[in-house]
Amino acid sequence: MGIKVVKFGGSSLADAEHFRRVAAIVKADPDRRFVVPSAPGKRFSEDTKVTDMLYRCYEMVRNREDITEYFKKIAKRYNDIIKDLGLNFDISGELDYVRDAILHHSGRDFAASRGEYLNSLILAKYLGFDFIDAESVIFFRENGTFDEEKTNEEMATELKAHKYAVIPGFYGVMPNGTIKTFSRGGSDITGSIVARAANAELYENWTDVSGFLMTDPRIVKDPKPINTLTYSELRELSYMGATVLHEEAIFPVRYAGIPINIRNTNAPEDAGTMIVSSTNEYDKERIITGVAGKKGFSVITIEKDMMNAEIGFCRKVLEVLEENNISFEHMPSGVDTMSLVLATSTIEDRRERLVNSINRAVRPDNISIEDGLALLAVVGRGMVKAKGTAARVFDAISNAGINIRMIDQGSSELNIIVGVEETDLNHALAAIYNEFVK
Ligand code: ASP
Repeated sequence: MGIKVVKFGGSSLADAEHFRRVAAIVKADPDRRFVVPSAPGKRFSEDTKVTDMLYRCYEMVRNREDITEYFKKIAKRYNDIIKDLGLNFDISGELDYVRDAILHHSGRDFAASRGEYLNSLILAKYLGFDFIDAESVIFFRENGTFDEEKTNEEMATELKAHKYAVIPGFYGVMPNGTIKTFSRGGSDITGSIVARAANAELYENWTDVSGFLMTDPRIVKDPKPINTLTYSELRELSYMGATVLHEEAIFPVRYAGIPINIRNTNAPEDAGTMIVSSTNEYDKERIITGVAGKKGFSVITIEKDMMNAEIGFCRKVLEVLEENNISFEHMPSGVDTMSLVLATSTIEDRRERLVNSINRAVRPDNISIEDGLALLAVVGRGMVKAKGTAARVFDAISNAGINIRMIDQGSSELNIIVGVEETDLNHALAAIYNEFVK
């Protein structure tokens, strides 16, 4: 059988009890050859992730505060795991080295990365696997961007030399030898990179939920899980705030055609969500795959008589956005109006400048900016084939007494985007979910 790369999130490795579960999962399948751990996460809701403790140490050193006592708490997290597992492993030398390096201003990313580094040493020892340091196989370029080709080549070569190995998530190395991390939650990216380099048949991403749910459980009680999700659907849903997987984690495996399986360390019997490149199958009972929403959008509306006859109108407006380094989300238009939907945060400090520049560029009759818009994405590969989906979405919203402020459907018919008042978002989301899931 093929190789499986397994990544475990911080809550899956927060204490010895979780290490045991992780080992049972890894050992249950000999194809699970390469393991990518995060740093120990929260053991209970008020707990602090080790990564956050390391960032704090870095800040303390900058502020010339003494880290001795605080660092002992970090050391205790690792020592407790080792002791509770009954491992014969002395990590004190490594811990001293990390503390001293942080004291000697080794850098913010270095400090943060040690959470994964130390956890991986322990896990490798516990599993009896080899340890491959990410700094020898994950490379960034001079400008700080990830060097996928060099990484893929060197990582593939290195992996061939090991039957079973643990590779820490979250970080790699700069050309000058300093450590650099991905953005927060970046161990997901490392897992994906390892899966590509190993030419794995599957990338298993183990976390503390049984995959993606059809909608936000804080809004709808016990939403149904999503069994199969395509990469494109995932992009749409995560863009709208469905956060189970780091956004950038899909690219390495997506292009290599490797599926991702989101699984639950605390419920390994659950099948979780399978993320695949494409599938014609969809749930005919439900039609939609998921519905997600996000607040914090604004609409710029530009009106001008005979706009439709004016060649280059849109371009001039969009150029203004480009000059201001602003990206927009949607552009619903009428004959004499053009609207731009964008994240309020991107225009916050430059509203006036923007309005003045657009005025200068196209001399409109009127221009206005309205805030307080929420966007809702109804996503589903099944919508192309099922007639009447849009009608059902709009009916559900209107039957709930909610006013629709904007509609946009991508031409791939993968999603329908609806804009509503922020205060109506939760209500609209629930109405759509209940329409499709009986
Ligand atoms: N430990 C890092 C973080 O907390 C990376 C990760 O867990 O994926 O962001």
